[in-house]
Amino acid sequence: MLPSMTTTMRGMLVERLGAPDVMELRDLPVPQPGPGEIRIRVEAVGINFADVLAVAGEYLTRTRVPYTPGMEFAGIVDVLGEGVSGVQTGVRVAGLGGTGALAEYAVVPAAGLIPVPENLSAAQAAAFPVSYFTAYHGLKTLGYAQPGQWVLVQAAAGALGTASIQLAKAMDLNVIAMASTEEKLELARTLGADVTLLQDDPDRVQKVKDATGGRGVPLILEVVGGKRFQESLKMAAPRGRVIVIGNASREPAHLQPGELMKRNLTVTGLWLTSLMSDQEATREAAQELAKLVGSGKVTPQVGPTYALADSARAFQDLMDRKTTGKVIIEPQR
Ligand code: NDP
Repeated sequence: MLPSMTTTMRGMLVERLGAPDVMELRDLPVPQPGPGEIRIRVEAVGINFADVLAVAGEYLTRTRVPYTPGMEFAGIVDVLGEGVSGVQTGVRVAGLGGTGALAEYAVVPAAGLIPVPENLSAAQAAAFPVSYFTAYHGLKTLGYAQPGQWVLVQAAAGALGTASIQLAKAMDLNVIAMASTEEKLELARTLGADVTLLQDDPDRVQKVKDATGGRGVPLILEVVGGKRFQESLKMAAPRGRVIVIGNASREPAHLQPGELMKRNLTVTGLWLTSLMSDQEATREAAQELAKLVGSGKVTPQVGPTYALADSARAFQDLMDRKTTGKVIIEPQR
């Protein structure tokens, strides 16, 4: 390991769980990579709904404080820990770790690195791992999507939604996009959505049926939860699949088993964190995504970009549904 001259850095610290403004900008020690780890000079951090939930203490896993949030980022390889090979300092990489990216430097296990196609900017690279791997698994690994098939994408202008539309179109699927505002639907259309519907359109269930020749949708990427989950079951085609990816409404959803039986529906959960340990699925997704991103067929959608000191505002804007694409924080400014 090379000795580092820098000993302190700016980073966000959460000491108690709650609303985004519990995060504070602090001077923190620069982390040193242990064996098998790599230190990155962080250029851009992709902010996910999961980061907001983690700070609130409402994520799928327990949040231990104090901690520095930030699971997904891009930056320049700075220092290699003992035993790390196959990576060079000075190269831009994307990383997917648990926490720690909302700082000028972050340390990740070498296994958490994701190679970045050269045509991506730092912000695009930071917008890539979570949304695109999740979209790929929702459509292919668990959704078994076939060309020509319909898919329904909720929160279609968000980070996962825009990734899902792009990937679905690259896979020759027909897309029904739902979102809360006309501006968001316009973005979905520019990405290729075939049918767009306001989330609160009173005729939405019928319109989904009409768009699909009366059958309903064979594949639904469900991210809102609550009463929308039941609605997704109504919109699904016989033998359709509802992939449960999120619960942005933070409301409980109810499931009547009889409803699944009557129309032979399948409900499948998807959590990227646990799928990442499936090496075969991850390798396949990485290869396919690298081809699509490398060829320019798919371009990560960078949303609003904030300085590190404005992290709490970035989190709040995401939670308040003010953002489209991937929210980015740049720790070097
Ligand atoms: P987004 O950029 O999509 O932002 C969240 C969006 O959710 C909002 O823009 C909003 O879109 C929609 N939404 C609907 N209802 C609400 C509500 N009551 N409060 C706030 N937002 C609401 O975020 P992400 O791409 O990070 O995540 C999207 C969803 O996918 C989340 O549920 C997240 O947890 C999930 N996810 C799950 C993963 C997994 O591994 N299981 C991985 C990645 C994401 P609109 O205004 O159009 O309704």
